[in-house]
Amino acid sequence: LPFGEANARNTYQDPTNMKQGDSIDIKVNTLLAKMTLEEKIGQMNQYNGFWDVTGPVPSNGDAANKYDHLKKGWVGSMLNVRGVKEVRKVQKIAVEETRLGIPLIIGFDVIHGYKTISPIPLAEAASWDLEAIKLSAQVAAEEAAASGINWTFAPMVDISRDARWGRVMEGAGEDPYLGSLIAKARVEGFQGDDLSLANTIAACAKHFAGYGFAEAGRDYNTVDVGTSTLYNIILPPFKAAKEAGVRTFMNAFNELNGIPATGSAFLQRDILKGEWNFDGFMVTDWGSINEMITHRQAKDRLHAAEIAIKAGSDMDMESYAYVNELARLVKEGKVDESLIDDAVKRILRVKYELGLFDDPYKYCNETVEKEVIGSKRINDAVLDVAKKSIVLLKNENNLLPLKKNGLKIALIGALANDKTSPLGSWRIAADDETAVSVLEGMQAYKGNTITFEKGADVVTGETLFPKELTINVSDKSGFASAVTAAKNADVVVMVLGEHGLHSGEGRSRSEIGLTGVQQELLETVYKANKNIVLVLNNGRPLAIEWADEHIPAIVEAWHLGTQSGHAVAQVLYGDYNPSGKLPMTFPKNVGQVPIYYNHKSTGRPTLPAPGEVFWSHYTDVSNAPLYPFGYGLSYTTFAYSDLKVDVISDTSVAVSVTLTNTGQVKGKEVAQLYLRDEFASVTRPVRELKGFELVELNPSESKTLKFTLSKAELGFFDNNGKFVVEPGDFSVFVGGSSEATLTSQFNLK
Ligand code: BGC
Repeated sequence: LPFGEANARNTYQDPTNMKQGDSIDIKVNTLLAKMTLEEKIGQMNQYNGFWDVTGPVPSNGDAANKYDHLKKGWVGSMLNVRGVKEVRKVQKIAVEETRLGIPLIIGFDVIHGYKTISPIPLAEAASWDLEAIKLSAQVAAEEAAASGINWTFAPMVDISRDARWGRVMEGAGEDPYLGSLIAKARVEGFQGDDLSLANTIAACAKHFAGYGFAEAGRDYNTVDVGTSTLYNIILPPFKAAKEAGVRTFMNAFNELNGIPATGSAFLQRDILKGEWNFDGFMVTDWGSINEMITHRQAKDRLHAAEIAIKAGSDMDMESYAYVNELARLVKEGKVDESLIDDAVKRILRVKYELGLFDDPYKYCNETVEKEVIGSKRINDAVLDVAKKSIVLLKNENNLLPLKKNGLKIALIGALANDKTSPLGSWRIAADDETAVSVLEGMQAYKGNTITFEKGADVVTGETLFPKELTINVSDKSGFASAVTAAKNADVVVMVLGEHGLHSGEGRSRSEIGLTGVQQELLETVYKANKNIVLVLNNGRPLAIEWADEHIPAIVEAWHLGTQSGHAVAQVLYGDYNPSGKLPMTFPKNVGQVPIYYNHKSTGRPTLPAPGEVFWSHYTDVSNAPLYPFGYGLSYTTFAYSDLKVDVISDTSVAVSVTLTNTGQVKGKEVAQLYLRDEFASVTRPVRELKGFELVELNPSESKTLKFTLSKAELGFFDNNGKFVVEPGDFSVFVGGSSEATLTSQFNLK
């Protein structure tokens, strides 16, 4: 039946009950009133995709069960169903074969692109370019929507200070201010101005909350943080996402201070739905209701379902807990049906907002699918953000940019010739071998001769699930040819780091240098030719102290996605002047981790005082990072002067500073403003980012930049979670990184 006729059959959209222009709330309530308890619970049940569209209906255990549930109206959402054909198939059953014909909401991890891949989110954060980040989310939404998807499990807004944690690649780094602005940009990019359009999709702020603070950076590990960190560091990007109108949240695998996030009424009911008044819905993380049993909070699945629904988890992703247990809990009087009604209303509301009731097949258009996916427009957008994500870490004697003619270049490293690794982790829909490699990017410039030698494999085997990556720790058979190539070259470009699947979920590392034999390869080649440009490929900050001491030029190129090689080549040749700044501190060694710029003071000095032994330090490494948060070079230089601070009122301070391009070429600078609250009732960080501006200047050009610090920037959350602005002395610092030295003081009455 076409949908119109299905409507006629299903009385909830009967025109006598339902008038054009009825508010979504009325529609939701009208529909809810017609639903049986089982149908309501069905809306709260999300299943992973379960068949191959070309094959017959599966007859094996799980899948058959799921299929049967779908027909009964016991499934409200599916994830990992991809492609218009497949989406239409499941949607058709929901809409045309179930009693009420309620459309499914189709979710997918569109984390950094769908088929055309943008840089990993951490890399994009290094652009500090909110417009480019927003556009990247927007084109990802367009591609996903063209493939039948209506909802992405992104952005991940978890703040993390631990480079060992593999999922730092998926977030915006360590800073809550930058992280909040990026969260907003991504939500706006995915959802657009009008969620009911067929090229926008619902976003999901995840993982609520604390997931990035896993102890020792080990994924899924315990999180135990105090109120100050929770309110001032972890929650702000979630709040920003909520304020930007994000329609869904996802909870988290971790426990937070003893309570699994999925079972936390404090997080979900008190903060999110209470204090913040969020009216969208909360989906659990994959199987996380069941994980409350392994966390040893819930005794069994029945108990876990009870805790989760009471805590405010609205939709169950793949725990099978709600669909199997909720009805019994209601019937036994353990769970009030009003909790179920509340969850269902939230889910239906988002489905109405997406326009799925008006046309459940609005995302199912093969012509659009063909036109949009992989289009030039989308590739241009991901190339643009890829260039902007690159960070120049070191450039001694202006080794970069490279001359375009007459050079003999040795290009070394297996990653230089890799068309899959640059796609990074979390790119489920993209095909392998679809990235432009650095080799290809450099070959697009014809004036130089390039000799490629891999030197050594980075990985010798991998699949994301369920195997671990096999890192090459012994095969150095390619070293000799790499050395020969280096000897015969004017300049050596080495692409080293970690494979694209070496970061991401379940990819924590205890050592965070170049993986396998790559460090040895670097040192070996260095002996043959010191004129090396090191291009890093990685999903997390790396500890590369040796490289920083020896290698003259270092370019942080992360995992930049489909257009990776072109972006890298354009930066190496100076067709794009790098402007990225690190969104996360790079440590000298892993023992410094967690290391972050906005740390607290201690009772002890962090620099040695004469005769002092018991200062806060390590005996074997300094306290300084290798590269600080906010750091990044350009092919030009910038100077800051004329810092002025005017206190306008007790909650408003105006700051101005002059920025000048003091070099020879046009370039962009991220001018950063940091604040220190000198003394407070709860100790405050040594400095905190409170403003920035991305400014492009011609050589010798100056611009006066103006910032306003208002209540939101001047205050903080106290240990009761209450926002306060305390009078007293403050310092501002302005410059091109978190180590900015131009400073001025002011006093708030
Ligand atoms: C991840 C989520 C993701 C979900 C669905 C989980 O393992 O933690 O971030 O959205 O899987 O793929």
